[in-house]
Amino acid sequence: MSDASISPDFKTVPRTIIETKQSLLGLSRDALREKLIEVGVKEKQAKMRASQVWQWIYQKGVQDFMIMTNLSKEFRTTMSEHFTVERPEIVTLQKSIDGTRKYLLRIAGGHEVEAVYIPDENRGTLCISSQVGCTLKCTFCHTGTQNLVRNLTAGEIVAQVMVARDDLDEWPNDSGPQIGRRKITNVVLMGMGEPLYNFENVRDAMRIVMDNEGISISRRRITLSTSGVVPEIVRAGEEIGCLLAVSFHATTDDVRDILVPINKKWNIAKLLDTLKQYPRLSNSERITFEYVMLKDVNDSDDDARRLVRLVSGIPAKINLIPFNPWPGSNYTRSDWDRIEAFAAIVNDAGYASPVRTPRGEDIMAACGQLKSASEKIRKSQLKKEKV
Ligand code: SAH
Ligand code: SF4
Repeated sequence: MSDASISPDFKTVPRTIIETKQSLLGLSRDALREKLIEVGVKEKQAKMRASQVWQWIYQKGVQDFMIMTNLSKEFRTTMSEHFTVERPEIVTLQKSIDGTRKYLLRIAGGHEVEAVYIPDENRGTLCISSQVGCTLKCTFCHTGTQNLVRNLTAGEIVAQVMVARDDLDEWPNDSGPQIGRRKITNVVLMGMGEPLYNFENVRDAMRIVMDNEGISISRRRITLSTSGVVPEIVRAGEEIGCLLAVSFHATTDDVRDILVPINKKWNIAKLLDTLKQYPRLSNSERITFEYVMLKDVNDSDDDARRLVRLVSGIPAKINLIPFNPWPGSNYTRSDWDRIEAFAAIVNDAGYASPVRTPRGEDIMAACGQLKSASEKIRKSQLKKEKV
């Protein structure tokens, strides 16, 4: 057993001082250390104890303080009296025939948020949300039809990764380290919400996800997608350091004003200027330009040629996303041969132009379809409550 079990390094603080259990998820290492001091850990021990607790939470994924066996029993009891590392409740887990898994999670206040796990041959991508709803109103996006309910906390953002790791049985266990059996290799902030309108919480959460003594997903395997919140883009590169994707979707301001209305505030020229300043931009760290393929709206050969001209000078990959319809949407997915013709023009100009295969369509888990099911569930629940 550790020295902690022989010589207690904290004094007990009466339980009544802290009324409800506080979640430790989402706290930075410094904030975690402060919390431990608050419950009686001596200052000179706090850094080491915080590091031990951190590893239990983020490296091993334990949910019960009593399992943290290198800490004294007394300290573990104190921890479980004051704190929690509980995850949000999984309201539903839907499994697509293509292996995609969609988690509907209930967070504080009874709100619901979605995360989607998309397995591929040589990678597994977890798509997470940053807000409940969205303030922006992109006309082709289902989330955009819902008002912003609230920003997610850093803890709620990290918790989406933790819930998926729980479900996928991905935490290391006695059978050995998880290296070689990692299921979540990549994280994309492409779920509900605009991550750059919840900057600090997204940043703090991603720092935890990247931390080497924990979940340890490299910054180069995390992609943040923004609709184009120009003032925060360079800051994201500096303070988070992950890869960037931009919801571009149109090649003229007239069309982009309609599809991505934030364009009225920061137009294509301003956006491109800012993208050129994104830190560490290089061929190995290219910006992904997301381009939703909408029939007869933005999918002509002229659009493809304009797109190539616009992005020239920026290390870029162009990700073509066939439009995913949702009930009430006013757009149609471009025909397959149109998508191929568009991709060929972009490709011939020297840009990778992968077409994103829609995944999890049968469970409404594809891009831009999120939140729809949960809203329906909420409405039906409301009806039930009224009866
Ligand atoms: N708010 C951020 C991230 C979430 S959206 C953003 O807008 O970038 C993730 C991606 O899905 C964006 O590129 C978005 O434009 C795209 N998307 C939204 N609705 C879609 C739909 N119905 N079909 C296909 N892609 C969609
Ligand atoms: Fe919000 Fe992104 Fe949807 Fe636009 S595309 S409404 S920014 S979630």
